[in-house]
Amino acid sequence: MPHTIKQSWAEPYKIKMVEPVFITTREEREQALQQAGYNTFLLRSEDVYIDLLTDSGTSAMSDRQWAGLMLGDEAYAGSRNFYHLEEAVRKYYGYRYLVPTHQGRGAEHIISQILIKKGDVIPGNMYFTTTRLHQELAGGKFVDVIIDEAHDPESTYPFKGDVDLDKLQQVIDMYGAERIPYVAIATTVNMAGGQPISLANLRQVRELTARYGIKIIHDMTRVAENAFMIQQKEEGYAAKSVAEITREICDLTDGATMSAKKDAMVNIGGFLALNDADLYDEARNMVVIYEGLHTYGGMAGRDMEALAIGIAESLQDDHIRARVGQVHYLGNKLHEYGVPIVKPVGTHGVFIDARAFLPHLSQDVFPAQALAAELYLDSGVRTMERGVVSAGRNRETGEHNYPKLELVRLTIPRRVYTQAHMDVVAESVASVLAERDRIKGLKMVYEPKYLRFFQARFEPL
Ligand SMILES: *Cc1c(COP(=O)(O)O)cnc(C)c1O
Repeated sequence: MPHTIKQSWAEPYKIKMVEPVFITTREEREQALQQAGYNTFLLRSEDVYIDLLTDSGTSAMSDRQWAGLMLGDEAYAGSRNFYHLEEAVRKYYGYRYLVPTHQGRGAEHIISQILIKKGDVIPGNMYFTTTRLHQELAGGKFVDVIIDEAHDPESTYPFKGDVDLDKLQQVIDMYGAERIPYVAIATTVNMAGGQPISLANLRQVRELTARYGIKIIHDMTRVAENAFMIQQKEEGYAAKSVAEITREICDLTDGATMSAKKDAMVNIGGFLALNDADLYDEARNMVVIYEGLHTYGGMAGRDMEALAIGIAESLQDDHIRARVGQVHYLGNKLHEYGVPIVKPVGTHGVFIDARAFLPHLSQDVFPAQALAAELYLDSGVRTMERGVVSAGRNRETGEHNYPKLELVRLTIPRRVYTQAHMDVVAESVASVLAERDRIKGLKMVYEPKYLRFFQARFEPL
């Protein structure tokens, strides 16, 4: 059969319930954007037509998950849903101990406070905003040991989430293993454009760290998507299921933080998972202070039930093929329109290279922020800046961090939008591209101290 025929996948579900969205006029959007300080995080969702701000907590739950909500056991202690969740984490991810948290950053907070001492260094395959901040607040310093290809939006290397083992060795030689409590490994790497790490590389990281007695803490927020890319692209994995590959990834690490709002398709929730009994004891002790009792950790019983079901669904091959397939559909469409995007297309979103899109703007006028604002004005599509605003300031010098990647992220919620929505988005980006010369930058007029991208305000230049 010629391989151009039968290329299409379709969603492995049909729609049972719909939620209306509203199409606004350009005047309405201008007003809304101005009120939001040109920050898409500050827009009201009702003013948004297609919401690609994030895939976090925005996915559609299945009928099984909704049914699970009705089975919520809201006992303060020992809820049956906690035990279901614990069972799912053990069965699918293989981690022995579970500490539920209200979301991913709750788990990051606990593991950082337990493992990091002042002056410690945490190497990682690129940073994530909340992860790095919790490492810093615990007295640690993040060091990026991802391969150089990850910082190059033009590189088509399939595993841009890989660790550069020479860089990691250098960090160990420079600081000494006793100052490195763990290596932080993300599957997939959000800030690099949703790029996966290969199992071959992770295995090498495991060997190197084992030699020095250094732990690996796994940011497993999108592990299913990473496992799918391994199945598709890494030699020797084509015949393995996403669930099997996921298990293989987790088995190479010592513990994990999870934002269940992504892969696992719940609106809120997360957890810390550990294999070491002593660490678990400490974490269980600490969760009571910051999140809640160790059998709910900030989640309702019903939410834990929906999460236990969502974990199983997230690892089904049909599901993940359609999920990543939709992201790639949008990516290919933008590429055909000549839009500069990070290649290869990631698993949870398409990242526009704002430097290449707006070559006339310097990073000091926040090109990605300006482009996100412009896309909203054009069509009511909401996207997110991932560039100099997200990178924040250097803690020592107070200067902006100037990341190499200045990106606008179009993140696709799971099971929410159709191919027609993707077409509308692609056409809008293409029409903004045609008029890019008139886009001017922004100036920041309000800057919060922490994670400034969430609440900063801007004015057009
Ligand atoms: C979202 C996310 C987090 C933080 O999780 P929250 O649930 O938003 O607190 C951590 N790491 C990665 C890679 C993420 O995408």
